[in-house]
Amino acid sequence: MCRDRFGVKIDVNVTARRLVTTHGRVTALATDQGDYRADNYVVALGIQSAALARTAGMALPVYPAKGYSLTVTSQIPMRHPPSVVSTRRRWWPGRGSAIPCGCRRQRSFAGYDRGFGRGDFDNIFAVARELFPEQADWDSARMRSCMRPMTPDGPPIIGGAKKHANLYFTPGMATWGGPCRCGSSKAMADIIEGRAPAIDTSAFTVRRWRK
Ligand SMILES: Cc1cc2nc3c(=O)[nH]c(=O)nc-3n(C[C@H](O)[C@H](O)[C@H](O)COP(=O)(O)OP(=O)(O)OC[C@H]3O[C@@H](n4cnc5c(N)ncnc54)[C@H](O)[C@@H]3O)c2cc1C
Repeated sequence: MCRDRFGVKIDVNVTARRLVTTHGRVTALATDQGDYRADNYVVALGIQSAALARTAGMALPVYPAKGYSLTVTSQIPMRHPPSVVSTRRRWWPGRGSAIPCGCRRQRSFAGYDRGFGRGDFDNIFAVARELFPEQADWDSARMRSCMRPMTPDGPPIIGGAKKHANLYFTPGMATWGGPCRCGSSKAMADIIEGRAPAIDTSAFTVRRWRK
């Protein structure tokens, strides 16, 4: 939609290395594919946002909170595949015959280590098997771990950097990436364009931790 409707150019498989700054402005984003230049720069790298911000001398309090999820294939054709969350709350819809299973409570702070063991999924397996005892092939479940970008107080960071006039941030959506991402993007676009956002973003600035 972004490409077709708005002419957005999307480059994938490009790794951002550092922000180049001079006289209170970002002048380039250095990547493994060369430098990118723009009028404005938005840092939205999930758990890697803090590392990139650091290259511009900014401290972003965004930390990785590890989470676990698994996907199983249903043995029964489903028109509306369910999803399973260990708190028994519907969380995201399945696709095709895949039943995604996740856990809201099972998370940990383990640095950037993505390793996992079967025991990390006990809670998810227990609830999912109870709900769908015969429906899925539980032995072939695909397990994975990933990182939620979290801030110390919960809400994401949305706003500009005082230190650099054309640098902005939207990381830290933690568990709420789905419901947050459209609103935060809209608010960010309004801020960059100099319009008043529809929501009060003063509670989301990176300066909120400063007394
Ligand atoms: C197990 C689990 C289950 C979840 N379930 C839900 C759910 O059901 N509903 C919900 O709303 N949220 C859920 N979340 C949270 C959701 O995934 C996050 O809130 C959301 O992904 C955050 O979006 P983001 O764009 O800020 O970061 P990300 O989605 O992490 O995107 C950051 C992107 O930046 C890229 N990147 C990082 N470093 C670099 C670099 N140096 N150069 C270039 N690119 C880089 C990454 O590859 C990535 O594509 C879940 C999270 C986990 C871990």
